[in-house]
Amino acid sequence: MARKFFVTTALPYANGPFHIGHIMEYIQADIWVRFQRMLGNVVHFVCADDAHGAPIMLKAESEGITPQELVARIAADRPKYLNGFHIAFDHWYSTDSPENTELSQDIYRRLKAAGLTYQKPVEQFYDPVKGMFLADRYIKGECPNCHAKDQYADACEVCSIVNTPTDLINPYSTLSGAKPVMKTSDHYFFRLSDPRCVEFLTEWLTAPDRLQPQVVNKAREWLTGKDDEALGDWDISRDAPYFGIPIPDAPGKYFYVWLDAPVGYLASLKNYFASGKARAQGEARTFEEFLAAADTEQLHFIGKDIIYFHTLFWPAMLKFAGAPYKVPNHVYAHGFITVSGEKMSKSRGTGISPLRYLGVGMNPEWLRYYIAAKLNSNVEDLDFNPDDFIARVNSDLVGKYVNIASRAASFITRFFDGALAYSGDKDLLAREAHGLAKAVAGHYEARELGKAMREIMALADRINHDFDAHQPWVLAKDAAANKVELQDVCSRALQGFRLLTVLIAPVLPEVARRVARDLFGMSRGFIWSDADVLPERVNAYQHLMTRVDPKQLDALFDDGSGAAAGGAAAAKASAASAKATAAPAAKGTSGQSSSASTKQTASPNVTDPNQQVPADGTISIDEFKRVDLRVARIANAEHIEGADKLLKLTLDLGSETRTVFAGIKSAYDPAKLIGRLTVVVANLAPRKMKFGVSQGMVLAASGEAPGLYLLSPDSGAQPGMRIS
Ligand SMILES: [Zn+2]
Repeated sequence: MARKFFVTTALPYANGPFHIGHIMEYIQADIWVRFQRMLGNVVHFVCADDAHGAPIMLKAESEGITPQELVARIAADRPKYLNGFHIAFDHWYSTDSPENTELSQDIYRRLKAAGLTYQKPVEQFYDPVKGMFLADRYIKGECPNCHAKDQYADACEVCSIVNTPTDLINPYSTLSGAKPVMKTSDHYFFRLSDPRCVEFLTEWLTAPDRLQPQVVNKAREWLTGKDDEALGDWDISRDAPYFGIPIPDAPGKYFYVWLDAPVGYLASLKNYFASGKARAQGEARTFEEFLAAADTEQLHFIGKDIIYFHTLFWPAMLKFAGAPYKVPNHVYAHGFITVSGEKMSKSRGTGISPLRYLGVGMNPEWLRYYIAAKLNSNVEDLDFNPDDFIARVNSDLVGKYVNIASRAASFITRFFDGALAYSGDKDLLAREAHGLAKAVAGHYEARELGKAMREIMALADRINHDFDAHQPWVLAKDAAANKVELQDVCSRALQGFRLLTVLIAPVLPEVARRVARDLFGMSRGFIWSDADVLPERVNAYQHLMTRVDPKQLDALFDDGSGAAAGGAAAAKASAASAKATAAPAAKGTSGQSSSASTKQTASPNVTDPNQQVPADGTISIDEFKRVDLRVARIANAEHIEGADKLLKLTLDLGSETRTVFAGIKSAYDPAKLIGRLTVVVANLAPRKMKFGVSQGMVLAASGEAPGLYLLSPDSGAQPGMRIS
């Protein structure tokens, strides 16, 4: 009996393009979905743009367009990423839709009828010029501790102290510059503290296999509270102006975006059913019937930063809304993706641009494999390490896996006209394959993708070992005399290759499609039970996958010297595109969840300093003061293996030492730099480069005339002195 799944990933916030964290989550979910389909299970895999909330409203306003236009522009870009990485959602929709309005309002009415909502006045900062209430992220002021100007309340950038907006000296609205005033407004709350909710969630959290143990612990901590601090009720309303869904019978009030975002899962599914696509997959029931059915498994893949919403509010909302709504069967959280151990963040801008990855010609299936190889079922961060990436792809995928087919098929084509023949026990071979497929299936099912990949590569090792041990290239020297053995060893290698391909098909869908069609002449793609079938013929081998060229990683990361991609023009273009893709991502990306969480914490677009530059290009003294220029002593300078333009500098800034990669190799002998004083931009966001993280930038002059000239202060200056 086929299982029936309704699977989602977290909804990405529609104020910017996808970043690598989104792509990781989608790849994880896509692999799992493809695996289930290969087993014959039915999966409806949907997602949507999370369109509502103040950041999108304000960003659209700053661009002079409607929020709908902004969301449509972002949505138009999505297929490039999804198709590019072979991520096969059945449906992509938007939370700004009639279905979502209807479902969100319906759920709210039911919660209200159940006595789980109430109103309460809330006092909040208000921008009298803009005419809107201000979330904390729209308020800046002077730090009461260190008196640094223009600080957000949540953490002073200079002294790191955490303030509240009321602590700030001379607070101002970042939207208008006006001094915020306190104003009271009625807000709507969801009564999560209601004993019914607490009792339900306590039980829901403990159901076996519903959540990962780490997630259960975290959610239980929130639910029971620490130091008698009980779980608070949830403020689900926002005042106009707001881009969102109106609360029924409450003029001027809108649902907080986090209320309607998860309902967007259901809205997307509903629209998908209405589109006829569910029917095309053999689902004859209506949306409501499917959703309510006991055998429908509702499953959400999410990032670890939005566990709170998905394990407390969301199930409680669904539970007390009642049928056809049903609580999720599983919520699976993953960690973040780091790059060479560095967490990507908006302030530091490390990370991999997914479009740049595709743009420099890197194979999406490399990344799918790499992510699969490193994912397990726990809520752990996954590190993208360039050297590890090259090693795994080149040695595992090309060296171990693809090579089997290219080597074995050539003998079969040359000497046996494509026919395979086994001299051993074929039933035994099939039984062994079946057992292996079963073990690997268990790992996929449990989202232990790394274990599945290890099992698969161990099999590839055994196949290669067996092939090499029989030295078919020696047998082929007298193919007539060694016919039986040569055909047998190559047939077993190709049977093994076919088995490997079935097992890795969820990860490498494109390779698997071509292997099925081109090598084995099949008219359909592989299904899981193909693992047990011994092939009888192969066609001539056609190229399947190239190795990673380390130069592609250079181009992906752009080592800052501007020469990474080879030709100067190419390097220039890639540097420009890095800038273009980094900037919008930086705005929306506070953590890196693929999820809607950024709408809570993202800096609004309107504070983008680039937009405050007047038309004549001048900057204010305050803007200049944001650049922290310091005197630094070059404590060490060295060549970097493999770097054409960069030198690695160790800088003494008086109280600390920094590593900086500088594109000055063409002009300076490192030995002669040691001991020199220079000028460093000390508060430049650390930048991930191929050779490590650069913690600043040294200043040098260059122009039309050749040469590159490092800046130095007059003698007497000491490391760490501030330049102003
Ligand atoms: Zn401070």
